[in-house]
Formats: sequence, C-alpha cells, structure tokens
Amino acid sequence: MDALEHYSIPVSGLQNGPHEYDFDVDRTFFECFPESPIKDGKVAVHFIFDKRPDMYTMSFEIQGTVHTTCDRCLEAFDLPIEDEEILIVKFDEKEWEEADIIYILKGTEKLNVAKYIYEFINLAVPIAKTHDDADEECDPEMMKFLKANQIEDVPEEGSSTSIWDALKGLQNDN
Ligand SMILES: [Zn+2]
Repeated sequence: MDALEHYSIPVSGLQNGPHEYDFDVDRTFFECFPESPIKDGKVAVHFIFDKRPDMYTMSFEIQGTVHTTCDRCLEAFDLPIEDEEILIVKFDEKEWEEADIIYILKGTEKLNVAKYIYEFINLAVPIAKTHDDADEECDPEMMKFLKANQIEDVPEEGSSTSIWDALKGLQNDN
C-alpha cells in the first residue's frame, strides 16, 4: 500500500485551521484496490482538512472521468463523475466509524484518506451508465446488431412495427 502513502495526512502535526491538498487519482491508485470495479481513470480530488481542537472536518471535491463499460453497447468509454462529500473525524477510546463520522484515538499521528476517496469515486458512478452520460454516441455497429436482434434497452415510443408493415408482409406472402 506504499502507493497510497501519499494520501496520509499528518494530522497531529498540523496547526488548527484548514489545510488544502490536491490529489490526482489514476490507474496506479485503483491498482491498490484489487476488488475495485474501476480499473482506470483520471480524477482530481480537492481535499480540505479543517483541524479544530475537538474534531476534524474533511471535505472531498471529486471531479474527473473513470474508464468503464457502456451498459447499452458494451464499448469502453470515459464516464464523467463529480461529487462532493464531507466526513467528520471525532475522538474516542477505540477506532470505529458510523455514517459520516470517523472516530480515531486522540493523538493519532496520521490519517490515510485513500479508502474514503476510493469509496466516494465508486459511489459517484451510477448503477446504469451509458455513452449518454458522456454526451457520446454508442458504438453504431453494436447498435445495429442489437436492433437486428431486437434487443432494445428502452423501447422507443411509437417505434413498434406498425400494423401496416405487418399487413404489407401478409400481402407479399400471398
Ligand atoms: Zn454505448
């Protein structure tokens, strides 16, 4: 996990007040998470660590693209993502986490934020993702193939073969 050392914030050494960091997340970052559904991407993370005597506030502004597969045409494409998340850090006798609050031991020297960045990037990816999300066209060959095999992801309104086409077919058969 050495590649993620870069994401360690030396919290105990910082002065009170806000501290800003910019992280560039790329393929090497995702390689540190073998279970990651995302294997590649280019994401800029603007991170603000606000240190207060009794708690810390961490804000993550995430913007970029992740390399993924279109659910309609199955071609790879770069999906734009954007998100903003806030986590609160408080102190306790033992380390634990709940919804948006992380509890750490008082005197903890370093806090690695890589796993939170990883989680937020994954949360920013919608369940259904298509070229539409990137304002791009689906692979025309694949769309032709899907159409020929009558596999339509969303039936278009009024696109069903009209009764006239069906009748024409009958007439031709006679
Ligand atoms: Zn597509």
